[in-house]
Amino acid sequence: MFERTPEYFPGKSDKRVRNCGLRLVSFALRPVRFLPSFFTENHRTVCNNTYRFSRRLFYCVTSEMPLQLAAMEKDVDINKVIRQHAEMEDFFTGGFAVKGKNSVPQQPEQQDNAAAAEAAGELEKIADEVHRCRKCDLGSLRTNAVPGEGNANARILFVGEAPGADEDAQGRPFVGRAGKLLDKVIAAMGLKRSDVFIANILKCRPPENRDPRADEIISCFPSLQRQIEIINPQIIVALGAPAARTLLNTNKSIGQLRGQFHEYYAGLGRAPIKLMPTYHTAYLLRNYSEENRKRVWEDMKKVLAELGLPVPEPGKK
Ligand code: SF4
Repeated sequence: MFERTPEYFPGKSDKRVRNCGLRLVSFALRPVRFLPSFFTENHRTVCNNTYRFSRRLFYCVTSEMPLQLAAMEKDVDINKVIRQHAEMEDFFTGGFAVKGKNSVPQQPEQQDNAAAAEAAGELEKIADEVHRCRKCDLGSLRTNAVPGEGNANARILFVGEAPGADEDAQGRPFVGRAGKLLDKVIAAMGLKRSDVFIANILKCRPPENRDPRADEIISCFPSLQRQIEIINPQIIVALGAPAARTLLNTNKSIGQLRGQFHEYYAGLGRAPIKLMPTYHTAYLLRNYSEENRKRVWEDMKKVLAELGLPVPEPGKK
């Protein structure tokens, strides 16, 4: 039989081996401590105990066993074991979380902001193309192209026929006298210019403000069609005969068209957009009668009613 000599069982190792043995026996007997409850308590308790037992067994295997086995080795590196243990804990807790891009679903408001930013970016691209465009002769006659401006999420889109001298000089739509009157119409509707989008059928000024030619409209109209597609307004207000005729593909006069809603064909698979023709503000300036002003205001009241917006009373803010 063995003789316990200091060489074979040096004092420190002797104690360690004994402790490890006790730990292993304790570990082996753990399941036994739970057996009575398996057979004596009701089903729910049994399930709970099964769960607890599984957890403890799992804990023993993942946390205590490596320590116990490692402690049995003579030249054990305890720091290494602790590090491995910590890494394993990390794996089953924080370390198991997916690292990288946050995939938290966006809130509706964030989505709206993201959609508006994307629409504004698309409109910017169209504006860049218009500034470089030379598809028709007007491209070489202009001072500045006038792509249009306003709210990328506008509910109302105002469309005129073409830039005038002031617009050509500044590169912005409706900034001359007719533009100032349009600003007043928008303000009378209880809105701001920044609430709407303003554009023209042609993006470059025709010489001497003549009417747009058919070939110029054919070249330029696709830019406006893309703007309408991106903004997707609820109502288009066509200012004057050239805008109304082009958008509705008709030869009727503005007198026949104004005062009632029509439908702008927005393309295959897309819902038509309601369109209200009315007099151009330049026409109003030339024919500034009470009757004409009332007609335009009646048209704008119908637009507000269609959008469910309150109709401001004259003289009240
Ligand atoms: S009017 Fe339109 S199509 Fe003609 S050059 Fe200007 S942007 Fe291009």
